[in-house]
Amino acid sequence: KGYINVIGAGLAGCEAAKQISSHGIKVHLYEMKPKKKTPAHHSDLFGELVCSNSLKAMRTESAAGLLKEEMRRLDSFLMKCADKCQVPAGGALAVDRDIFSRLVTDGIRADENITVFEEEITEIPDDAITIIATGPLTSDALAEKIIERFGTSLSFFDAAAPIVSAESIDMDYAFYASRYDKGSGDDYINCPMNKEEYETFYQALVTAERAPLHSFDVNNPKVYEGCMPVEVMAQRGENTLRFGPMKPVGLVNPKTGHRPWAVLQLRKENCEGTMYNLVGFQTNLKFGEQKRVFSLIPALHKAEFYRYGVMHRNTFINSPKLLNADFSLRENENLFFAGQLTGVEGYMESAASGILAGINAVRRLNSQEPVILPTDTMLGALAGYISDKYVEKFQPMGANFGVLPALENRPRDKQERGKAYSDRALKSLEAYLTHMNLEV
Ligand code: FAD
Repeated sequence: KGYINVIGAGLAGCEAAKQISSHGIKVHLYEMKPKKKTPAHHSDLFGELVCSNSLKAMRTESAAGLLKEEMRRLDSFLMKCADKCQVPAGGALAVDRDIFSRLVTDGIRADENITVFEEEITEIPDDAITIIATGPLTSDALAEKIIERFGTSLSFFDAAAPIVSAESIDMDYAFYASRYDKGSGDDYINCPMNKEEYETFYQALVTAERAPLHSFDVNNPKVYEGCMPVEVMAQRGENTLRFGPMKPVGLVNPKTGHRPWAVLQLRKENCEGTMYNLVGFQTNLKFGEQKRVFSLIPALHKAEFYRYGVMHRNTFINSPKLLNADFSLRENENLFFAGQLTGVEGYMESAASGILAGINAVRRLNSQEPVILPTDTMLGALAGYISDKYVEKFQPMGANFGVLPALENRPRDKQERGKAYSDRALKSLEAYLTHMNLEV
């Protein structure tokens, strides 16, 4: 057939659709929004960022930055959208989520090769080469079909942080600063606490009432470390938050001239700066409890909550048993998976996998050999990890230098090490693209 199906217009699905279109191939893109939404999706737009608005570090010498640079070199559609709607966030690439999704949606809708069908897919299509990119909250009907066909599905729990209105933050108790003065100085609003205030807050947090985990496996909820609810992290010990999301290092309160005992950082949610999210405060507390407990932080004593934090199931397939490194299914190479559903973890990781799945779906259609990126590139390493037959206890994986092969001459200095990994990866990517005669 002369078209490729993409299911899900999320981060992976939109990247895949644009890659396919850029090769002049028609795409049938299926998205169940706006008729039906997962519990974490609120907007009618495509490419929705469901929790944080940060796409993580920008520096190419960091793992997240390297991945983004590789995506750019693979002509990432989402990176172009992100660049157009950046909000200041120190060394991170953060975006105005509404403008971002608007740009993604407009780019998809305006594309002549892409036909959008606003419907929920409940059966795995077999009319054409298909990419399933329905995300960690794949609708129940399709999730059941996937489990029925492929036997394995794993899941863990993910949580989102609350968002407050900027005008409700009491700046008498807060100050603008980036840690270690990185960034433009007003990237973050810092909510400092002294020892006594922190202890009161801490006690309230660990004893607050949590929302029931209905429809989940309540007895054995696996929580992904990267998105652990703040109340769960707090239970590990009174100082855990002070060494985690509330660490005060690199910050001096200009009102006291001292480093605070603990700090909650707030990051801009949108370009206008009318909304701020509570960084690292993903939570599953009941809504009333979120208001009560978080309002104990002095700068938030009259906070108006635009959105409360929530906790959700996060599903992924047992990719090492099922997928090739080009994201196709071993037992049926006309079927591809992409995004968080494959066990890559994170916005950009999901999007990046969509790029590869898109390229490879086209190559499958044209009977060309698949693009398997070298494993010393970040995306190649992630693709290698999720399709590694020898991985037994499969857990989602985000960009990190640990997935890359060891360096021959490993610099001791962390910065230099990051640079060495990055240089090697980008050189290897360029060489591979040239070798494969891939024009991107
Ligand atoms: P999605 O972006 O979720 O896209 C899937 C699309 O498929 C959706 O639009 C959905 O409506 C559609 N769909 C679902 N089922 C069907 C169907 N049957 N038929 C048609 N369409 C369907 N990552 C981070 O880097 N930072 C974070 O802060 C972060 N927070 C998260 C918070 C939560 C609550 C969750 C669940 C995940 C979070 N993640 C985060 C992880 C991950 O990066 C995101 O889930 C990301 O959106 C995954 O991209 P995706 O393209 O795989 O799926």
